[in-house]
Amino acid sequence: MEVHLEEKRQAAIDKRLAIIPKSYRKTYEKAVARKSMRAALKAQCLECVNWEKSEIRNCIALGCPLWAYRPYQEILQSSVKRRDLGAESTQN
Ligand code: SF4
Repeated sequence: MEVHLEEKRQAAIDKRLAIIPKSYRKTYEKAVARKSMRAALKAQCLECVNWEKSEIRNCIALGCPLWAYRPYQEILQSSVKRRDLGAESTQN
């Protein structure tokens, strides 16, 4: 029973790998091999937005349990902080 499930899982993984863009395959493989929770999160978000990473940054599904942890948001936050700091410095 256990072996049968593992075989089915591997077949499902192989099926997904065949349609994942090459540049994201390593992330997916790391995730399904249980090597990285970060990779699992990244792979889930990437799959959710059909592998368009800019869509993750702009994700508006605020109720999604992964939203607060989604990848690629650091860039947005740091640019907002820079903008805010710039606004403060002009007020001084
Ligand atoms: S946070 Fe956004 S991109 Fe990530 S899984 Fe949720 S809805 Fe999809």
